[in-house]
Amino acid sequence: MKISELLKKDGLRMSFEVFPPKTSDKYDSVQAATEKIASLHPAFMSVTYGAGGGTSKYTLDIAKNIEKSYGVPSLAHLTCVNSTKETVRERIKDIQEAGICNIMALRGDLTPEMEGKPRSDWDYHHAIELIRDIKESGGDFCIGAACYPEVHPESANQKEDIAHLKEKTDAGAQFLTTQMFFDNNLFYNFLYKIREAGITVPVIPGIMPITNANQVERAIKLSGSFMPQRFKSLVDAFGQDPKAMCQAGIAYATDQIIDLYANGIRFIHVYSMNKPDVAKAILDNLSEIVSR
Ligand code: FAD
Repeated sequence: MKISELLKKDGLRMSFEVFPPKTSDKYDSVQAATEKIASLHPAFMSVTYGAGGGTSKYTLDIAKNIEKSYGVPSLAHLTCVNSTKETVRERIKDIQEAGICNIMALRGDLTPEMEGKPRSDWDYHHAIELIRDIKESGGDFCIGAACYPEVHPESANQKEDIAHLKEKTDAGAQFLTTQMFFDNNLFYNFLYKIREAGITVPVIPGIMPITNANQVERAIKLSGSFMPQRFKSLVDAFGQDPKAMCQAGIAYATDQIIDLYANGIRFIHVYSMNKPDVAKAILDNLSEIVSR
């Protein structure tokens, strides 16, 4: 089922994310985690695409299995920055042949080797070029794109970032999923600004449950997200006690989700990071709120 259709349904709905293994020896454990998350009946599951496309086969295998074996709609991520037009054409065809109708169209991060190099011979510079190619492929896809409540790190300012976001939705992105954030007010402000800029597609907030102290630094580095003092205090208090930190991180993410719902948001994506126990704990906390 297309995510654009799922987004029209009533009630609070949740989606979960998994990432493919980097090496084949980890495939079975990722598949096992995926199965457990799928058995929780999320509205859909997204499968990330490894930087540089190295794990592209796994992305597709996992996404296909989620749909075929568990009847859960899947969203296959696809990046383009390091790819040729020909490779991307093949990937889009593979996704279509696998029977997957949802694609998250992303540029992908620039690696340190790419920084400062001439870009004139690149086939892709921005996600919008991928969105256009997916549209032109003739496949009947629902296309998603990424957005950044705290501004993409490469953007000079939010106005410029939102102008490029509008170009992505004008080109055919039918929904947006946000980068993780830990202060809901940043999301509400962002939503207001993009609506003012004429972006009308649904926006799915992405919530990352931080369940161990080491994750904090990684998450900030990856996303550039602002950490509210309330969250920092929680890490100070529980960071050295893994079980307590896990429980506190799940409670914090649950609290963010409840606040989003109370403010009219009906669809929430959880960066569940191949952790079925975390996905289940969040759903259990919301058992009287989530529609399944
Ligand atoms: P773009 O939309 O191209 O934006 C990148 C920057 O370029 C922004 O500053 C934007 O304002 C600017 N820009 C956009 N269009 C133009 C234009 N036409 N001219 C000039 N500037 C422009 N990475 C992975 O490798 N695999 C994944 O599976 C993955 N999943 C993700 C899922 C979500 C929900 C999010 C938020 C991010 C994900 N990422 C993933 C990370 C993503 O690839 C990086 O954040 C990347 O740096 C930007 O990707 P984008 O698609 O937003 O790029």
